Amino acid sequence: MARVKVFKNYINGKWQASSSGETFDSVNPANTREIVGRFQQSTRKDVNDAVTAATAALPKWKKTPAPHRGEILFRVAELLVKYKESLAQDMTREMGKIIKETRGDVQEAIDMAYYTAGEGRRLLGETVPSELNNKFNMSVRMPVGVVAAITPWNFPIAIPSWKLIPALVCGNTVVMKPASDTPLSVYHLVKICEEAGLPPSVLNMVTGSGESVGTPLMDHSKIDLVSFTGSTDTGSIVAAHCAKQMKQYSLEMGGKNAIIVMDDADLNLAVEGVLWGAFGTTGQRCTACSRVIVHKKVLKKFTSMLLKRTKDLRVGDGLNEKSEMGPLVNEAQRQKVLNYCKIGVDEGAKLLTGGSCLSGKGLSKGFFFEPTLFANVSPKMRIAQEEIFGPVLSIISCRSLDHAVQIVNDSKYGLSSAIYTRDVNRAFKAIETLDTGITYINSSTIGAEIQLPFGGTKGTGNGHREAGTAALDVFTEWKAVYVDYSGTLQKAQIED
Ligand code: NAD
Repeated sequence: MARVKVFKNYINGKWQASSSGETFDSVNPANTREIVGRFQQSTRKDVNDAVTAATAALPKWKKTPAPHRGEILFRVAELLVKYKESLAQDMTREMGKIIKETRGDVQEAIDMAYYTAGEGRRLLGETVPSELNNKFNMSVRMPVGVVAAITPWNFPIAIPSWKLIPALVCGNTVVMKPASDTPLSVYHLVKICEEAGLPPSVLNMVTGSGESVGTPLMDHSKIDLVSFTGSTDTGSIVAAHCAKQMKQYSLEMGGKNAIIVMDDADLNLAVEGVLWGAFGTTGQRCTACSRVIVHKKVLKKFTSMLLKRTKDLRVGDGLNEKSEMGPLVNEAQRQKVLNYCKIGVDEGAKLLTGGSCLSGKGLSKGFFFEPTLFANVSPKMRIAQEEIFGPVLSIISCRSLDHAVQIVNDSKYGLSSAIYTRDVNRAFKAIETLDTGITYINSSTIGAEIQLPFGGTKGTGNGHREAGTAALDVFTEWKAVYVDYSGTLQKAQIED
């Protein structure tokens, strides 16, 4: 058996073993016999060391001119480009999604790094007129301080980069805690930052479980902001902890996204969009399409077209360029998906295809699952309400656009939505009435670009957005500045 490589924490500019002396293995979900790497099972002490280092590095980093911070991030972008293919290959090995998608995941980090590096020369504030003579009013952005970045496994480089890069350009220092299924990709990202010349301690990384690392990290008194992406259940724990300590937090959480297919839609286009939204990343995207709401006039035709394409999907190891869908990330996730398929059948939905684990040739050592379609789903069923996070799609019938919008909005989540229609009036009505943070017209629920705000309403978030210039509002505090050059005491709002 090949020797397993051991990866260390990054604390105070040094690669260090955990004080626990313990490690955990990350395995390839397409072939569990392959151990991708051995990582540190870290402790409260490791977290404390990392936060202490990040706190000590803050004053100097904050004083580093933002354009210089941006220059380092340009180098990060260049290195991500240089290593893109090997990063993608390792990412497929550690979390399973197909190689085309892991290349896209790295590309998202590249886009984020180029875009955000430029913010080093903007970080725009406002100048506004004063109500008094000889007085100048402006607002400037200040870093928040030491940021804890807690991330999930489904976008192993993209999501960490969405937090790390804006945090750094704004002058914050960072402690990263990657998901235990995908620490390798974050290790690579940290290595790249080191190679790009990021000063020691500005970025620290501690691996380990949510309980042993995530909790002490978010609870640490020197952490000023927790930037979290993960499930709504964990997010609400993060919120409760942070609220108690009056510290800032931004939450990006679950989704139950839907695509509406109207009777005037281009059905071929809609089928491709639904397929990509439902089965891309094996359904493990926060923006995955897990409900398709189809106008009753085209329901039969659309369902038969979609069923055919679903049955034809090639499931396999993501490193095989021919695979169209990889495995689920781990056995727990596979059991969860299997259980939801049972729930769907018990609730009276009609299983059109799928619903089982796959163990055929080349699949028996991985967490593979059949692409699954349910018909006759009613909007209140659990499979239509709860986040499954797997390749399971529910088909729901609707009578009209208003009815479809009502079904989409009847959800505790509000991340992404889409509508296929050729009618511009319907498209704009959908934009106006769908209660989600993202709406696509004639496109799938997935495929966000980094220059626009990303996030959702209701149980998906807490009002913040990642990416675009919106990210700057998470990672900076506003300061309003009034400069009175009158030489007299001028009183705003007070009449003489
Ligand atoms: P998760 O909530 O289980 O874990 C997310 C991170 O939180 C991991 O690093 C985990 O170790 C850590 N964690 C777990 N318990 C913790 C605790 N008590 N205290 C502190 N940290 C803790 O989520 P996951 O399974 O890794 O990811 C899947 C979920 O993420 C899905 O619900 C998906 O919708 C969501 N997600 C949301 C977005 C978004 O932008 N809205 C993007 C991707 C994924």
